[in-house]
Amino acid sequence: MLKLNNYIDGTLKTPHSGTYLDNIHPATGKVYSLIADSTEEDIHQAVRAAQTAFPSWSGLSLKERHNYLLRISQLIASKSKALAKAESKDNGKPLWLAEQVDIPRAVDNFEFFATSILHFSSESHQMPGRAINYTLRKPLGVVGCISPWNLPLYLFSWKIAPALAAGNTVVAKPSEITPMTAYLLAEICIEAELPPGVLNIVFGSGLKAGDPLVRHPDVKAISFTGGTATGRHIAQVAAPMFKKLSLELGGKNPNIIFEDCDYDRMLKVTLRSSFANQGQICLCGSRIFIERPIYERFKRDFVEQTASMMVGDPNDPNVHLGAIVSEQHLEKILSYIELAREEGGRILTGGKRVYPAGELKGGYYLRPTIIEGLDYHCRTNQEEIFGPVVTITPFDTEAEVLAMANSTPYGLSATIWTNDLARAHRLAEDIESGIVWINSWLLRDLRTPFGGTKQSGVGREGGMEVLRFFTEPKNVCVAY
Ligand code: NAD
Repeated sequence: MLKLNNYIDGTLKTPHSGTYLDNIHPATGKVYSLIADSTEEDIHQAVRAAQTAFPSWSGLSLKERHNYLLRISQLIASKSKALAKAESKDNGKPLWLAEQVDIPRAVDNFEFFATSILHFSSESHQMPGRAINYTLRKPLGVVGCISPWNLPLYLFSWKIAPALAAGNTVVAKPSEITPMTAYLLAEICIEAELPPGVLNIVFGSGLKAGDPLVRHPDVKAISFTGGTATGRHIAQVAAPMFKKLSLELGGKNPNIIFEDCDYDRMLKVTLRSSFANQGQICLCGSRIFIERPIYERFKRDFVEQTASMMVGDPNDPNVHLGAIVSEQHLEKILSYIELAREEGGRILTGGKRVYPAGELKGGYYLRPTIIEGLDYHCRTNQEEIFGPVVTITPFDTEAEVLAMANSTPYGLSATIWTNDLARAHRLAEDIESGIVWINSWLLRDLRTPFGGTKQSGVGREGGMEVLRFFTEPKNVCVAY
């Protein structure tokens, strides 16, 4: 069985523990490869390699770093079919989704930051007649990147590419649930002849491999995407060590639909924003608020179209939803559906596990689920479920829906459907979230600041924001 070994100092290395974790194929529930069960020793080795590589990597010209990153982007593009297959197999997502979204976005991430570093600039502040201040922006040194399982290569590269572009060397830990494309990226880096130690990829669990990375005194910054509870723990460890921290955490995003919206477009996009990637996108709109005059119409159409969605074999091009990422996560989602029932919710469609025939019968499939009749304060409407489960709730006034939208501890993204321009701008200003989509969803321009407010995170990724995160500003004041 294939063993995914660590990529440290330019080569693939067995873990110090000599042990491996099972990597499960969610579509069948069977083990299909083994992952290095890394520990503190492997992290130490990776950090040392990254430290050694730092002076020469940070000393390269911008154009030289640009060339390496562009080469990686091109290699990902040239292997996109195989990478999409691997991503779908590892995560359970439909193959067409990995082909259309995950892998093209990884190509774009490397290309975007390869290019944006050429355009990155710092400020100067003049004191007329007296002095000029200018800001130097230097790379931090060795940085740690930790990513989740829902968009594996997409989010892994979203951190690694800017960190490297800015001149840092990196120790990265992908999720132990979806390590395969990170492993394939290691092979790509070897093929691209990325200098040894510039990027190190250490596999393993959060506790045994992630935690020592966060605690390592020579790691200057942690860029983390994952759950809010993990983010809180990481902040408790890293903040007293004065590390720079970027935390991209959970969400419970509102999708607000007004009567005056473009109904057909809204319905089509709402199906996607509810259930794409089995609802396992941090930006999915899991709380849908509908203006009362169109509530019954929306409910009928939304339930009908959701009930006709196909759930099953991720390789089937007609399938809408593939497998949930793991048995444990499926159990968590099912427990929330049970909770919704206990809280008085009515399951309008879904709510049940699906058992396809043949080889797939042991896979983790769930029907997309719509629940109504819940108070916006209840746990189902307050806690992140992170699966194909949405609630629908009618509202009467803008003030009422704003209060409901802002009622959770999260603040990642929001979607508003209306053709009233003034109302759209008003709400966009007052909604407590880092990202607001008006009449769209998941329309992404990589130059924009990306991140959440409240318990959805600290800091921003994307564009120049992330290059600022991965560099340390120093003001130089020259008197004349
Ligand atoms: P998770 O927090 O369980 O794990 C994320 C990563 O952290 C994994 O690599 C894991 O091994 C590692 N980890 C776990 N414990 C650790 C520790 N003590 N120290 C260091 N590392 C540790 O999250 P998950 O279940 O993989 O991902 C789902 C969550 O991610 C959801 O809450 C989702 O909303 C969130 N998410 C957020 C964004 C965003 O941009 N805000 C994007 C995608 C996913």
